[in-house]
Amino acid sequence: MDGGRVEPWDVAPGGLPPEAVGDRRDESARRAVRRAAPDRPPRRSAAHPPPEEGDPGFSLVIVAPRDDIAVHAPDPAAAEPLMSSGTPHLYAGVVEGTGVVGPLVLPGETGCAGCLHESRTDRDPTWPRLVAQWRSGKQRQVRPCDLALATTVAGLAAAHALAFLDGRVPSTAGARWEVSLPALHWHARPVWAHPACPCAAAERGKGEHLSEDGESHETMAVQRPSEQCREAAAKRPAGTWRAHV
Ligand SMILES: [Zn+2]
Repeated sequence: MDGGRVEPWDVAPGGLPPEAVGDRRDESARRAVRRAAPDRPPRRSAAHPPPEEGDPGFSLVIVAPRDDIAVHAPDPAAAEPLMSSGTPHLYAGVVEGTGVVGPLVLPGETGCAGCLHESRTDRDPTWPRLVAQWRSGKQRQVRPCDLALATTVAGLAAAHALAFLDGRVPSTAGARWEVSLPALHWHARPVWAHPACPCAAAERGKGEHLSEDGESHETMAVQRPSEQCREAAAKRPAGTWRAHV
């Protein structure tokens, strides 16, 4: 889903072509995908309508907002339908000179947008007020961003998504990978499951504790989620995730 029409700064190698400028973004994106796909997608015939009962839904949803605030501080309310349906989702985006990939949220298993919000509130009690002010501000125009950075974020997000769909648990589960211009150091910031978050991932990961010292977790980020969670996930192909939630 993407609103609006293609602007000149949306054109990218491997993405939307110059001819798409002025066209609807969602239609242009579908055309780009069809051009890249070697085969025709399977069609559902009228004779075999999809079963409504037990519909497996989406195996994975990628949340890639165009809005800076939504990238920096993903809104837990916006993810509610994904959380309540047990749909895995991966956040990705670019805010100013910083690219973000993660967290990959496995509802009830790994830290979600609500957990991220609660952890930030622990560190800074004024955080909720700050975010509310940002969100209530005037809708800003989507600004152009660095093309190489945006392409890097898109590629990494795709790689994490494909790893998950292949039945692996990529390192974005419980962490956000961030890279900033101009030095382009990559680092992972942990997104801990928070006990105050209604997603209950903290309860599931019992034995792991929140720490006041966020710094000490930086080097542990690549080890998240716990081995226990990895084992559970390994037994659970991505397509069947919802059935187990
Ligand atoms: Zn949560």
